[in-house]
Amino acid sequence: MAKTMVEMAAEIVGAQAASGRMSPEELSNSIHRVYDSLVEVQRKEKLAETEPEDVSGLGQLRARPEKSITRAHVICLECGMKFKQLTARHLATHGVSPADYRAKWGFTKRQPLVAKQLSAQRRKTALDNKLGERLAEARRQRLAERG
Ligand SMILES: [Zn+2]
Repeated sequence: MAKTMVEMAAEIVGAQAASGRMSPEELSNSIHRVYDSLVEVQRKEKLAETEPEDVSGLGQLRARPEKSITRAHVICLECGMKFKQLTARHLATHGVSPADYRAKWGFTKRQPLVAKQLSAQRRKTALDNKLGERLAEARRQRLAERG
């Protein structure tokens, strides 16, 4: 690799700083911002190399965002990565909150950003737990009646 990302970021910001007046704080913030963008660009390039189909499909997905949430996974419409669950932490890497993301892509506020299989599983687990509680309760009562 010819240059490290930090060197590239410093160079870009250096050029900016030379053209205008920047406080040390602004300079440091700028470096961070530029560095983050470079990391993001590099990550996208890598993604394009390893998963060409996914990236080309992303344009289609963006036209129909509801298709990004499938049974097995949920695809991030910002970068095309696949997840079981699209977390706030991941969305933060794109500078959006889950609420921003839903609004941007036309999801309802209550849309879970989770693979359908997983959300169905969670519902089932919740039901099973309730059922389990009721069974345990019934067993306790039976024992109490016997004793
Ligand atoms: Zn993403």
